[in-house]
Amino acid sequence: MAQPNPGRDLLIIGGGAAGFFAAINAAEAAPGLRVLILEKSSQLLGKVRISGGGRCNVTHACFDPQQLVGYYPRGGKALLGAFTRFQPRDTVEWFRLRGVKLKTEADGRMFPITDSSQTIIDCLMRAARRQKVEIRTKTTVGRLTTDGSRFEAHLTSGEVITVRQVLLATGGDRNSLQLASRLSHSIESPVPSLFTFNIRDERLHDLAGISVPEATVRLPGHKLEARGPLLVTHWGLSGPAVLRLSAWGARSLHENQYRAALIVNWLPGLTREQINHWLQDARESHPRQKAMTSPPDARLPQRLWAKLTRAAGFSDTTNWADASKTMLSHLVDEIHQGEYLIQGKGQFKDEFVTCGGVSLDEINFKTMQSRLVPGLYFAGEILNIDGLTGGFNFQNAWTTAWLAAQSIASQQMENSP
Ligand SMILES: Cc1cc2nc3c(=O)[nH]c(=O)nc-3n(C[C@H](O)[C@H](O)[C@H](O)COP(=O)(O)OP(=O)(O)OC[C@H]3O[C@@H](n4cnc5c(N)ncnc54)[C@H](O)[C@@H]3O)c2cc1C
Repeated sequence: MAQPNPGRDLLIIGGGAAGFFAAINAAEAAPGLRVLILEKSSQLLGKVRISGGGRCNVTHACFDPQQLVGYYPRGGKALLGAFTRFQPRDTVEWFRLRGVKLKTEADGRMFPITDSSQTIIDCLMRAARRQKVEIRTKTTVGRLTTDGSRFEAHLTSGEVITVRQVLLATGGDRNSLQLASRLSHSIESPVPSLFTFNIRDERLHDLAGISVPEATVRLPGHKLEARGPLLVTHWGLSGPAVLRLSAWGARSLHENQYRAALIVNWLPGLTREQINHWLQDARESHPRQKAMTSPPDARLPQRLWAKLTRAAGFSDTTNWADASKTMLSHLVDEIHQGEYLIQGKGQFKDEFVTCGGVSLDEINFKTMQSRLVPGLYFAGEILNIDGLTGGFNFQNAWTTAWLAAQSIASQQMENSP
């Protein structure tokens, strides 16, 4: 194997959020560390640019590591210790110290006050330049080998780069997982997370744009449930409740080719008995009113209510007084446990992430160094870690990259004369 290129101490494969954050922090912690980032596309920080609908949801205002790990369907346990060392509060401070102020929205998501992902890109690019991080785009690493003390990165162009420390930050790129697997790391097969549900059902037909502030969605076959705002789209259902459920059920839904029964509770604040009582009340108070045009509660939009009553057997002309016991009981079912069929998945444009990646038990989460290959580090979405929508996925990238950077820097300080 060739001698390490004298010009570089650390090779980072992947010019995304994790790659940049690791490069900057390693170079800041070990002044003089020579870092090279290789990025296969022509664009650096491409996902940061499109993230959060172009606003970049940088992190989430959740500052308790115990609570924070609850937002990660995969990887939460491994991240607990990591978050005690670098968590959203540190992310906010990190960007503040470099001139970027973040703001918190009502649901806890944090964005730059400019509402532009370009602010985050500019900040990271500026910091990388200040640390003299070398960056090459349109450069793909096709193979990575090691003799135990140094690595050879074989570029698809034929060039070979030799270096002592490598950080793999290739994100959800399926092909690049082989860089880790060929160095004997195990891989959990990657599948999508954070998607919407395709549902063709008369009860949702023509309701696109209607939302309820709080509903629960349940996958009865998988014992999974999520709660939150629910949105009807042209293709089915979306909104925070569905995205959360898609993340927790990412693997099992994939195994079932995205076909599954879904139970929707449109009014989770009320029990079956309360809904029943509430319908009886409407019947007694307004016996002559058309049931379909008078939802007894403003939380259910009129057009949705009309669909639910029709599904329960009501017609346009049914007065409350004419509603039979059976019709009322069907209506309670429609409100409290309406059964739908998921027939596929759709795309959520604001955020998307891959579930699966490099297995976590082969990585030391104090250093993000491989337990199998000394000198090999991992950060970001390449790991078998993914979070719910809301800034948790970037937080994983910031935290794991920061930890790797600290460890790489301290190795460098120890080894430097
Ligand atoms: C549309 C969209 C919106 C999102 N919005 C948000 C959000 O608002 N908040 C949030 O928390 N998360 C969001 N996410 C998720 C978030 O973007 C990712 O979790 C995060 O970017 C992961 O960072 P990373 O550096 O690990 O991977 P990436 O950002 O994917 O970077 C990896 C880089 O490695 C490069 N690469 C891959 N293989 C090679 C190779 N062999 N050689 C050289 N280079 C290679 C890739 O081209 C890529 O640029 C969003 C994702 C998408 C798709």
